Amino acid sequence: MRNVRMLACLFAILVAAWLPGVASAQQVLQLEPGHGDIQLSSYLAYRHDSGGIDDATDAFRRYAAGEFSPLPGGQSEFGFQPGAYWFHANVVNHDAVETRWILVQQYALSDYIDLYVRYADGRVVHQASGDHRPFGSRSIHDRHPNFQFDLPTGQPVELLVRVQSESSMQVPLALFTTTAFASLARDAQFAIGIYYGILLALFFYNLVLWLMLRDASYFWYLFHLSAFGMVLFTLNGLGFEYLWPNSAWMTDKSVPLSICLALIGMQQFARTFLELKERFPRGNLVSLALIGFFLLLGIASLWLPYRMSTPIAARAVLVGVLWIAVAGIVVVRRGYVPARLFMLAWSMFLLGTTMFTLVAFGVLPKTFYTEYGVQIGSATEMLLLSIALGNRYASLRRENERIVSDANQKLERKVAQRTQEVRAALVQLEEAHGRLRDSSRRDGLTGLYNRTYFHEAFEKMLVDGQQSHQAVSLLMIDLDHFKAINDRHGHLVGDDCLRFTAQRIGKVLRAHDALLARFGGEEFVVGLPRHGLHEAVEVAEGLRRALVESPCGAQGHSIRISASVGVHTIAPGSVDDIDAAIEIADRALYAAKANGRDCVKTSISAA
Ligand code: GH3
Ligand code: MG
Ligand code: MG
Repeated sequence: MRNVRMLACLFAILVAAWLPGVASAQQVLQLEPGHGDIQLSSYLAYRHDSGGIDDATDAFRRYAAGEFSPLPGGQSEFGFQPGAYWFHANVVNHDAVETRWILVQQYALSDYIDLYVRYADGRVVHQASGDHRPFGSRSIHDRHPNFQFDLPTGQPVELLVRVQSESSMQVPLALFTTTAFASLARDAQFAIGIYYGILLALFFYNLVLWLMLRDASYFWYLFHLSAFGMVLFTLNGLGFEYLWPNSAWMTDKSVPLSICLALIGMQQFARTFLELKERFPRGNLVSLALIGFFLLLGIASLWLPYRMSTPIAARAVLVGVLWIAVAGIVVVRRGYVPARLFMLAWSMFLLGTTMFTLVAFGVLPKTFYTEYGVQIGSATEMLLLSIALGNRYASLRRENERIVSDANQKLERKVAQRTQEVRAALVQLEEAHGRLRDSSRRDGLTGLYNRTYFHEAFEKMLVDGQQSHQAVSLLMIDLDHFKAINDRHGHLVGDDCLRFTAQRIGKVLRAHDALLARFGGEEFVVGLPRHGLHEAVEVAEGLRRALVESPCGAQGHSIRISASVGVHTIAPGSVDDIDAAIEIADRALYAAKANGRDCVKTSISAA
């Protein structure tokens, strides 16, 4: 709605500028030799025939009656208008060489445009053009409606032009000699060629990228580019010239349709490129709403008259384009780097589109820059967007690489941690295994080695002794009258006494690198490496004495414990195996028992 108010304001200004001009007389166009290209606006008078009912005779009469006015502010853009506009010019050709001239309506979309040339002799020649008439009927096959006629030298001629159109009333009329028109048409064609060349190159370049990368934003870029290219193709009159030269229907529908498609493409491209769904969810909804609106408008424009659908579409273009600028700014401010280039591209396009729309509504005059600004702006935009796409792709790839390398590092850390845990578990397992192995070697009551382990370890001790040529001694210890202790104090006290005795013996043996085990019941066995018979007997005596000297304190009782010890020494070089050695020591033990107990006997003394 602000648009409308702004337009009203501008119109008021334009009308104010026009009022003093009413009184001034209309200038006669004097065509001097060398004039080949003349804009007619300052020589024109016009009249709005809002009912569109006058014919040429009426119009000539009204002109004669002074009902025509000069163009307001010299501008021939009036916006969307009902009925017909009449324009009048007086021309005198002073050029003796150039008598063939071309009047060109430099706006392609006017529906009906009629030229009436009245010569000095009163003869009126009529020609018809406009995009609601077949393209083939044009004097020269050009995207702009044009009329060729004779201007005899020195004669005053009146030109009367009637324009009626559903599209905006823009009537930039110009007169050309045939040569000037040819060179202008060639230049324009060249410029158009460059423009569509850029668009086509960008199209195929990005088409290949899209086919390879399958990134949705490339697809919407292509869509946006094609639809926008089609908008300009249509507005330039090229669509009518090349694509639908005989279809007034297509001429009418192509403008609002292509605008709607271009706007859908634009919004979709902006949504995917700016990643609005993730980065600006509310903005994403606005874009979706706009897409919905343009979809409906596009479908409706197939039935709506041009005059209704096109102004709505043209106004909505401003909203759509400005909205993308807003979304872009939001996303840039949220730190999305690829959006910066996008914004630069968009500002180019914004400038071009805004100018174009303002020209369509008659707010801005039609000049080279306002007309070609759109082409220049949009070509720059498309080029920058293509670069922005490449940039975005590169930043996505960098992001992916970063994610992969992060994941790798995390994985490595996890593997290292797991390895550490497995190692720790192995150590624990090893320890547990060690404890288990140890417990299988131990006697449950006393904690001493058991008989099985003694067997193994003592065998090794014997081998070591043999190798180092040193004697190894064996002590068999049996507690005296132990059954009596059990009988008197009970088995639990007996157990306490066994534990006490085991500790006591262990303590005495600490200095001797001895191997101590419980042989069974109340019998103990000791292996003494590097001990000859004499030393072994001394150790045995020490043990015997230690036991007798310190009674066992158990459950309030003080129990005297004594032991009988049998000693056997395996000299280096002797062939005794372990069983034989134990048997010999056992015999010595028997001898000690037989000798009255609490004493030490050797295998020699026993023999
Ligand atoms: P001596 O050797 O002097 O001839 O007499 P003794 O009474 O010690 O001999 P004997 O072989 O007749 O008895 C051994 C006793 O040791 C029998 C058993 O009750 C006791 N004994 C064996 N093992 C254990 C044990 O683990 N705990 C307890 N409390 N007593 C045990
Ligand atoms: Mg005993
Ligand atoms: Mg015994």
